[in-house]
Amino acid sequence: MTQPLQVMKFGGTSVGDATCIARAAQIVAGAAKGMRVVVVVSAMSGVTNRLIEAARRASEGDTAAGGALVESLRQQHRAALAVLVLGETARAAIDRELEEVLAEGKRLYDGTAMLRELTLRTLDIISSLGERLCAPMFAGALNQLGTKSRSIEATELIVTDSYHGGAEPRAEETRQRSAAQLLPLLAAGEVPIVTGFIGATQDGKLTTLGRGGSDYSATILGAALNADEIIIWTDVEGVLTADPRLVPDARTIPEISYREAAELAYFGAKVLHPKTLRPVLPESIPVWIRNSFAPEKPGTKISQKGKSIGGGVKALTAIRDVALISLGGPGIVGVPDVIGRTFTTTAELRADVLLISQSSSQNDICFLVSKPHAHATVDALRKEFAQDLAHEVVDHITVDPNVAIVAVVGENMRGTPGVAGKTFNALGQEKVNLIAIAQGSSETNISFVVDEKSMQHALRVLHKEFGLGHPPAG
Ligand code: ADP
Ligand code: ASP
Ligand code: MG
Repeated sequence: MTQPLQVMKFGGTSVGDATCIARAAQIVAGAAKGMRVVVVVSAMSGVTNRLIEAARRASEGDTAAGGALVESLRQQHRAALAVLVLGETARAAIDRELEEVLAEGKRLYDGTAMLRELTLRTLDIISSLGERLCAPMFAGALNQLGTKSRSIEATELIVTDSYHGGAEPRAEETRQRSAAQLLPLLAAGEVPIVTGFIGATQDGKLTTLGRGGSDYSATILGAALNADEIIIWTDVEGVLTADPRLVPDARTIPEISYREAAELAYFGAKVLHPKTLRPVLPESIPVWIRNSFAPEKPGTKISQKGKSIGGGVKALTAIRDVALISLGGPGIVGVPDVIGRTFTTTAELRADVLLISQSSSQNDICFLVSKPHAHATVDALRKEFAQDLAHEVVDHITVDPNVAIVAVVGENMRGTPGVAGKTFNALGQEKVNLIAIAQGSSETNISFVVDEKSMQHALRVLHKEFGLGHPPAG
């Protein structure tokens, strides 16, 4: 009988330094005694941001930034390696792998600075370096513990489309490649350490899955291998009732449904990349969120059913990095294609529309996109509606970058009387001004837009209103 299969993903803080990697490797070594384990690793925390920032500088002609970063990454990874891998020969072999990755980085930075040009494709390769430095070290740490392991680049496993910076996996090809590459290793008792965050097109061009995408890598591989479970190891004890950095008394939720967790992820709960749960839905593979710094804690189980609390509010979330775009004017009443043209425009830009609201008089449509998409969206809309603006059918297309979306999430919430009333009453009493309310039909969330400055206050008010925090002591 084959052993059960688990995919485990370790995020940036869980591999942040040698001590963290050693702790993570202990978790894997323990699990690998009783089952087949595939590991997905992120870059050491902060590395991806630094890689991208240096790329930006190089593209502005800074010829020193890339080299300085490569040297600093060399020091950082060598220092960790020296603690994790004690055997000279093993360490030298890993060091050579790291040097290859670093040399590739240096060439890319030099080229970028020389041309003063940074294509999305080059940025993807630069962004991938952190994961590609981390995976060989992690494999070394496991071998040191006596668990046979080797690193594998996800470019060999995850086949994607060619949308650089946010590529989509192709499920069937990924399934074939992952099975062909990983199953024999697992059968031989090895633990493959896969680079998170990246994939490659059919013809081998490296792509990334979007920032924070290692969570998605884990579920893509979990689905491809038909894993029994996926565990996302991070720096908090699970999915919490709110972002603990914003609401200090947020509590860990023991069980939550795919829909609820997906809604939280979509509306900004950083603990999960927004697309994480997509691959596991068809086969209902359970996903656990657990704390690599406290592995004795059970964490949160995300599954098909989750645990019903009989309908009602389970958690809150917020997204700050958004902009409100509004388009309107007296003339848009009776112009039937305004909505169609607006959202065809956003779709062409691949700008994710996070929330839509239309005033009842139909004079104004407003919607939210992520901040990096805001300017391009407004420019494209001004082009699309140039005639209508000239003839004053549309009199304004504006953007407000100082807003946030707050979402109240729970299964069957719309069917639970009073949740919307309670939400808006509590906010009204606390004088939180609502800029727009979503008109979505989701049963699982109520979302609204507030001034960015009021976001934290709104979260705390609602967290208290719905009794989501820790019960008072005593
Ligand atoms: P990793 O590096 O492991 O991928 P991330 O920083 O991407 O970790 O995600 C974990 C962080 O997500 C937590 O440290 C926490 O600050 C934040 N977070 C935001 N909302 C939530 C939530 N509802 N539950 C848990 N964590 C949350
Ligand atoms: N290292 C990547 C990032 O920082 C992917 C991840 O951590 O999930 O975006
Ligand atoms: Mg993350």
